[in-house]
Amino acid sequence: MGNRSVWDDLVGQSRVAEYLAAAVRRGAISHAYLFTGPAGAGKKSTARAFACAIICADDGCGTCAECRRIKRGLHPDVRNVAPEGAATYMVEQIREIIHDVNLAPVEGERTIYILEAADSFNESAANAFLKTLEEPPDHVIIVLLATTYEAVPPTIASRCQVVRFRRLSPHDATRLLAERTGASEAEATAALAATGGVLARATEFLDSVPRRLARDHMLGTLKDLSVYDEHDVLMAARRLLAAVKAPLDELKALQAEEVRERVDFVGKSGGKALEDRHKRQLTAREREGVTEVLNIAESWLRDCLVLSQGVGDLVANRDVADAMEEVAAVITPAAATRALAAVKQARRRISYNVSPQLAIEAMLFDIREVLTCPR
Ligand SMILES: [Zn+2]
Repeated sequence: MGNRSVWDDLVGQSRVAEYLAAAVRRGAISHAYLFTGPAGAGKKSTARAFACAIICADDGCGTCAECRRIKRGLHPDVRNVAPEGAATYMVEQIREIIHDVNLAPVEGERTIYILEAADSFNESAANAFLKTLEEPPDHVIIVLLATTYEAVPPTIASRCQVVRFRRLSPHDATRLLAERTGASEAEATAALAATGGVLARATEFLDSVPRRLARDHMLGTLKDLSVYDEHDVLMAARRLLAAVKAPLDELKALQAEEVRERVDFVGKSGGKALEDRHKRQLTAREREGVTEVLNIAESWLRDCLVLSQGVGDLVANRDVADAMEEVAAVITPAAATRALAAVKQARRRISYNVSPQLAIEAMLFDIREVLTCPR
């Protein structure tokens, strides 16, 4: 695998990394892959590392300008695609990809498509995609990501080289994250709780001041929620949403950097496609931010429940143990379950395109009710 390489950044998936690196070395890359494994197993980071190994002149050094842009999701020849419909890929979105694959790469010789949530292909979207998947143009490599093999339509799965990822244990994930970032074990545990156990996101989270501030906002709101009046709750929801949007400035700065680099490359043409892609990135990041504060609320409530049962070693948010102990002293399991259901309800509403603001307001009112009457 050469000296230092992009594969070294991946953790807990050495067999997969070895297999993909060998395919690149031997020039035996398939045109379609299906990566399967649970959230947090590192499928997306591995897909990006694979893209680095394919595109980088140095077999994926991990440090050159190309590798850096790929790793941040900012390289025009490595397209990240996620379902734009509430729950599934829309046929129009698939048609756009089918049209797109026939265009030449923007900068290099290959275009790599990373399609997230391949388990949410419905039948018509899957059918529209089959021919492209079977015989993409020579320069195209398609990597599908899915949580399980069984959830992917068989017509799709059977046309791909399947690569299975195993789940990292929470203990391994915490240790690796702490090792990689220099964070304490408590900080690593909290970051993983905030990011749904996804190591790559937890790493970014620890690195992002505004995202950690959004966490502080959520935790501060939960701590004081029982004494809030109606107006306070509405204001808290508004402040939370503002905190969720603050980290978008980091992404906007990266995007501006990409626009500057691209102007050198291809002039101002192709600006519209770039603009569209950036808009989609911002939407996805905002959604991720909302998910993050919901994860934090959920883990805080679960911590209260765990503490009320006297099993403190399983607590995720140790930095706010004092506030949680107070709640744990009075809350019943039934009440904690009601509060957790309110978070779940907010997730569902948002997935049905209810505005995050409204969904979070409703959630805070429900949790306040539980916290003021925790029986
Ligand atoms: Zn490189």
